Formats: sequence, C-alpha cells, structure tokens
Amino acid sequence: MMDRTPLEAAERFDYIIAGAGAAGLSLAYHLNQFGLTDRRILLLDRAPKTANDRTWCFWEIGEGAFEALVFRRWERLTFHGEGLSMTLEIIPYRYKMIRGADFYHFMARWLDAQPNITCAYAEVTNVESVGDEAVVHTRDGRAYRGAWAFNSILLDRPTRQPAYHYLLQHFLGWVIHTPARAFDPAIATLMDFRVEQSGDTRFVYVLPLDAHTALVEYTVFSGELLPRAEYAWQLEAYIRSRLQITDYETQHEEFGVIPMTDAPFPDRRGERVINIGTAGGCTKPSTGYTFQRIQRRVRHIAQALKATGRPYVATPPLRRRYELFDSALLNVLDKGRERGRRVFTDLFARNPPQRVFRFLDEDTTPMEDVQIMSSVNIPAFLAATADALRHRLAALSRRPLAYPDR
Ligand SMILES: Cc1cc2nc3c(=O)[nH]c(=O)nc-3n(C[C@H](O)[C@H](O)[C@H](O)COP(=O)(O)OP(=O)(O)OC[C@H]3O[C@@H](n4cnc5c(N)ncnc54)[C@H](O)[C@@H]3O)c2cc1C
Repeated sequence: MMDRTPLEAAERFDYIIAGAGAAGLSLAYHLNQFGLTDRRILLLDRAPKTANDRTWCFWEIGEGAFEALVFRRWERLTFHGEGLSMTLEIIPYRYKMIRGADFYHFMARWLDAQPNITCAYAEVTNVESVGDEAVVHTRDGRAYRGAWAFNSILLDRPTRQPAYHYLLQHFLGWVIHTPARAFDPAIATLMDFRVEQSGDTRFVYVLPLDAHTALVEYTVFSGELLPRAEYAWQLEAYIRSRLQITDYETQHEEFGVIPMTDAPFPDRRGERVINIGTAGGCTKPSTGYTFQRIQRRVRHIAQALKATGRPYVATPPLRRRYELFDSALLNVLDKGRERGRRVFTDLFARNPPQRVFRFLDEDTTPMEDVQIMSSVNIPAFLAATADALRHRLAALSRRPLAYPDR
C-alpha cells in the first residue's frame, strides 16, 4: 500500500475553529447550542486563556447568551460632552460588562463537558481552503483538515489604501480602589470628554464596580498611539482633578488597541474558510465595539450551518448603508471636518440614547437615520459622505467580487 502524504494523514474534523478568543469560543458555544453536538469540532489557540486580558462592555435589550457572566449592568449612564452634561436613561437597554477572565473560565469548564469538541494548543501559521476542505497548519509542522474552518486570527491585515481611513482606538484602563466611598454603583460614565483633546477624540469611561471600586479608562481615537507614559499620566490627572480622588490603589490594568477602519476585512479565505471576530470585520469601524457584533455573526453562522449545512451568511443589502455611515464618521474625524467631541455631543444631545444605540447596532429605520443625520454637523457629514462614496465607488470598480454569497 502507498504511504499517505502528511495532509492525507492529518486528523479530520467537521469544523476547525482557529483562535479561541471571544469569537472562536462564542462560535463553539453557539454551534452546540444550535444542536450541532454530533459534529467533531477542533478549537485551536496558541495557549489556554486564563488572564483577565480585557473587559467587554456593550449595550443590550433583555438577556444575551452569556447573561450569567455579566459582572455589572447599568440602566443609567452619564455623558459629559462639549458644554453639556447629561444623564441618559437607557431602559430597555442595559449597559453591561463581562470580564475576560470570567468568560474564559466559564468556557473552559463548559468545554470540558463537550465530548464533540477537542482543544489543542499550537501556533497557527496558515488556514487555507484546499479543494472541498479547509486545512489548518501549525508551527510544529502539523496539519488539520476540516469540512469548514472558522478563523479569528489576523492572518490578513487590510493593506493601506488611500480609499480608506485608518484610525485606532487605543486606551489604558485601571481598576482603582479607594478606602472612602467614591462612586455611585448605579451610574456609569459612558463618555467624559472633559479632557484635553489635543486635536484627537479623547474621553474617559468610568464604570463603577461598587462604591469603592471603578474601571477608569482613558481612550483616544487617532491615527497613532501615544507614548505609553502619557495614558498613565492622563489617567492620574483625570482621577485627581475630575474624580477628586487622591487616595487609591490600582488593582488591575488593561491596555488595548482596536482598529477603527473602513478598509474591508475579508470575510473568507477561500471557499471553506470563514473569517470571524475582528479578523472577519466584526469591529464596528466608527466605535470599535465588537463583542455584540461577534455574537450576532456567530449566531447567524451556527443557524445557517444547522439549516443548510453551509455557514454562509449574506448581509442584507440595505444594511450595507451603515458601511457608508461608518466611513463618513471616520472621514469627518480623519480630515478634521468636525471635532469628535462635538459629533458625540450632538448625537446624545439631540437624540434619545435608545435611538443612538439602535443606530450603532445598525437596526434603525430610514426615518431614524434621517433624524440621526440631521442632528450632527450636516455640511461636514455631507462632504465626508461624498468623499467616502467617491473613494468607495473607485475602490469597488478595482476590486473583484471574490466570494459571492450563495
Ligand atoms: C483590551 C481590550 C478591551 C476591549 N473592550 C471591548 C469592549 O468593551 N467592547 C467591545 O465590544 N469590544 C471590546 N474590545 C474589542 C473586541 O471585542 C475584542 O478584541 C475581542 O476579544 C475580539 O475577539 P476575537 O475573537 O476577534 O479576537 P481575540 O479575542 O483576540 O481572539 C483571538 C485568539 O486568537 C489567538 N491567536 C492569535 N494568533 C494566533 C496564532 N498565530 N496561533 C494560534 N492562536 C492565535 C489568540 O490567542 C486569541 O485567543 C476590546 C479589545 C481589547 C484588546
């Protein structure tokens, strides 16, 4: 008998999930929730996840799939904009926080009880579509074959092109603890723009965990990162001068960089490889919020697999209009057509927060879109939209439609 090639000898799964972070773990969970427990699934990451490396915050109506993991939730938010401070009553939404470590621990326990899911640890070097299957390669020379692969590893970063905008959302957050009562646990600060803007868009979140403890996060939207010491210096200044707290200890620190770009992240790597998570374009370009968009996408993928045996999810054509809205906001910020602080102040001052959330969730009616559009600097946004549209049409005429949905 002829020897089999390494690829023929490779272990075969129904689904391979490359990258077991927010998207990979959520997809594994949803696949089993949708009853696909008879499929053999491989979850691959470079190492088990245990560190509290990020905190996910998002707004939501009702209960989500990971409701039991929500560490804190708020029904009232404070917004400090340009010359205006207001309390936002956001019901029926709630602003929620899930700590990374809680999510990873829950998933590790859950995975232990799923006989159809295998976890393996290795550095993934490639995820490719070969004939009618997906092949995942790891640095230790192994290969895994699957009917489908779902990739959340940033193997293809969008290449810089003049047609698109490339901002970053970068932030340093501290969980601080004070000996005296310092926070109202019922109200979180969504955005406090009362910090020096330095030509960028800069604000602070304050998410109280109890009367003595809060996550305070200094956030910047700009093209370049700041020197690391500046985030710390800005946080210290905010805590001292705005929160008027001098006696505190820092219990935890998180630093993050999220892409804010309208450059397309490919949603596939060939027929059999579907990108998910940030790698699959789940980050909202204009805000950086990703967690809920990941949940929506992996739910749709699991639903499609269950219903049709194929994971393709088509974006409804009308929803594509939000891509233009995102590009317009990025263009306004990038070209300095209007200050970011002013844009967010206009949005929250002239719209109920529920409408703003629906808009950012891409669930508004055309009438609500008009209300949102007419609440911001109209000439600046019209110029930005025209600019973005012109570049988008030019880019479209150059880009082949690689993988049409079917
Ligand atoms: C600090 C921080 C805070 C954030 N806060 C929020 C928030 O409040 N709200 C929100 O909506 N979004 C937030 N985001 C954005 C987004 O939700 C997260 O980045 C989210 O984790 C993205 O999920 P993902 O699965 O795409 O990537 P990840 O969660 O980063 O998962 C990718 C996985 O791939 C693995 N991996 C990478 N390369 C390889 C390789 N070569 N081989 C094997 N494994 C590999 C990694 O170990 C990781 O486990 C935050 C991001 C950061 C960084």
